[in-house]
Amino acid sequence: MTRPTDRETPSEPRILDGRRAAAEIRAEVADDVRQLVAAGGRPPGLTAVLVGDDPASQVYVGSKTRASEEAGIVGAVLRLPSETTQVELLATVDGLNADDAVDGILVQLPLPGHLDSSRVLERIDPAKDVDGFHPVSVGRLWLDRETFVPATPSGIVELLERNGVEIEGRRAVIVGRSHLVGKPLAALLLRRNATVTFAHSRTQDLKELCRGAELLVAAIGRPAFFGEEHVAPGTVVVDVGINRLEDRAEVERLFPDRPERLETFERRGSVLVGDVDPRAFARAAAYTPVPGGVGPLTVACLLVNTVRAARRRQGTAAAPGESR
Ligand code: NDP
Repeated sequence: MTRPTDRETPSEPRILDGRRAAAEIRAEVADDVRQLVAAGGRPPGLTAVLVGDDPASQVYVGSKTRASEEAGIVGAVLRLPSETTQVELLATVDGLNADDAVDGILVQLPLPGHLDSSRVLERIDPAKDVDGFHPVSVGRLWLDRETFVPATPSGIVELLERNGVEIEGRRAVIVGRSHLVGKPLAALLLRRNATVTFAHSRTQDLKELCRGAELLVAAIGRPAFFGEEHVAPGTVVVDVGINRLEDRAEVERLFPDRPERLETFERRGSVLVGDVDPRAFARAAAYTPVPGGVGPLTVACLLVNTVRAARRRQGTAAAPGESR
């Protein structure tokens, strides 16, 4: 692929299609599960713990368990009331740690405010930490050791690599330094020999910094924040943000040539937009759309982690791509 250092903007930017890549990965996971079972193994088990009734969390957990079951993974959800105490939640995690049929545990975040999510995540057995949020997993990631990598940054790298986007030697600017996205992604890009710069809310001259990027990752959670002034021609843009737009005038302004988005708005009362102004994508060499870019990869990579956990716990051969 053309290196954006050449700053040759192709006439049409390439769309990095997350739905297609996620479907490929999910089919690979299903294959892997079939092989595991055919070799006499137990189907992998993934249990999600959902505390309270946050509607977005219900949707996320639902899509994770549905996708698990489609891939032959035994998915379960433990629903706990919002008034669950810290002691009760820790005891629930202890129970899952001790349950041999459970290979992966995920505690859906955010937890209700009275619960200490760090302590809960630290209680998960690192061998079952398929979200990759345990300090042991984080440390191993930065030591370039085999570990569970959080699903969103893993998915970003999968999407880039499956589309032949070159990472080695590139100037990557990651805007957003969360534990979920920015920091683990930096470790993965460094491991692939990118030159990585972090930016965040206190960064000075953000526009200039972004314009110097060959690979720009926007992960800040602000609708359409990054405009044409942030994107140099020929940049590869990864838009991680998922934001809901509920203002019709904004939808019309951001999607002037996309009548289907306005139709979606009329039907649902909102549309999704990333952290990048969709009009800025025209300058890119390639970009991830929202929706249909990074989002679908997150669930797919969680399934990959779950099968790896099952294989390790059952002592069977490593899944392909284990060292990633
Ligand atoms: P966080 O809120 O945890 O972190 C946001 C980061 O953005 C912080 O580092 C913050 O800086 C930085 N930031 C905020 N405002 C600015 C600004 N004006 N300029 C520069 N930096 C800024 O968010 P997450 O990492 O959890 O999520 C980011 C986005 O990605 C959200 O839209 C979320 O919905 C989406 N997401 C999407 C996923 C997917 O599957 N596609 C999965 C996970 C998240 P500071 O540290 O200084 O406060």
